[in-house]
Amino acid sequence: MKIAVVNYNAPEAVRVRKIMLKRLATAGFTYDQQHPDLVISIGGDGTLLSAFHMYEQVLDKVRFVGIHTGHLGFYTDWRNFELEDLIHSLQKDQGQAVSYPLLNITQRFSDGSTSQYVALNESTIQQKTRTMVCDVYLNNRLFEGFRGDGLCVSTPTGSTAYNKSVGGAVMDPTITGFQAAEMASINNRVFRSLGAPIILGKETKLTVRLHDDSDCIMTCDRQTLHWNRNEKHLADITYRVDDRRISFAKYRHTNFWDRVHESFIGDVQ
Ligand code: NAP
Repeated sequence: MKIAVVNYNAPEAVRVRKIMLKRLATAGFTYDQQHPDLVISIGGDGTLLSAFHMYEQVLDKVRFVGIHTGHLGFYTDWRNFELEDLIHSLQKDQGQAVSYPLLNITQRFSDGSTSQYVALNESTIQQKTRTMVCDVYLNNRLFEGFRGDGLCVSTPTGSTAYNKSVGGAVMDPTITGFQAAEMASINNRVFRSLGAPIILGKETKLTVRLHDDSDCIMTCDRQTLHWNRNEKHLADITYRVDDRRISFAKYRHTNFWDRVHESFIGDVQ
């Protein structure tokens, strides 16, 4: 098995990387950063997000393993003191995997060109200096007009991240779908949107058409999306479930709802 290692640039993650590379070599694994079968991420969930985007073109060929250098994360099943256990699991590997849905984002521009992105957590669209005004379509039918700070469109596994902070629902990742949550919508006698997060299935696409895109900011996970604003306008953005999924090596895989309980509720009675 060919293994790549992606780490956060902090002393503990660098230390774990060095140990991991030595142990992998001793155990007879091939280190291959270009064409891996397995990608080991060392850091936090944010590091796993970066690793995901490094290998987003080959998602059908790679599985991911996350080692957290702090607390247990949503994409990390191993802690930095469990490297021996992980090596043993790798030696017994039989290709076992668990996979989760991803979000496809298609930007369509005024000159007819398009750009596509894939998100593991979410994509946001916001207008910071003025109220964002847009029309929201579900499968090409006008659903609502929205006014507010913006929209956060997330995957099921991303539902515990930014989505949760803006009042979205935590979504079971065995559901193949995605979610759109409003960010500070204006609801009064004149302007009205649903005012609640919506969860959509794999047959539904959600399209956002901004009334004015001049100072809108779009993100995809950790990245800000850029385009040449002097040359073209953003005509619309369409979100749907991506055809690809992310796969994690399933030697040990913490139940999603156990993670949610551990991260957000803990031992409080
Ligand atoms: P960051 O701002 O440095 O960290 C964001 C935090 O979110 C970290 O504690 C990270 O965990 C955690 N996180 C990442 N994915 C998660 C998930 N699926 N479920 C629960 N928690 C998760 O940013 P970053 O490390 O580059 O991560 C980018 C993500 O930050 C974005 O995808 C977005 O979801 C999130 N974000 C949240 C807000 C907000 O809640 N107001 C605002 C902007 C961005 P680790 O410590 O394990 O890395």
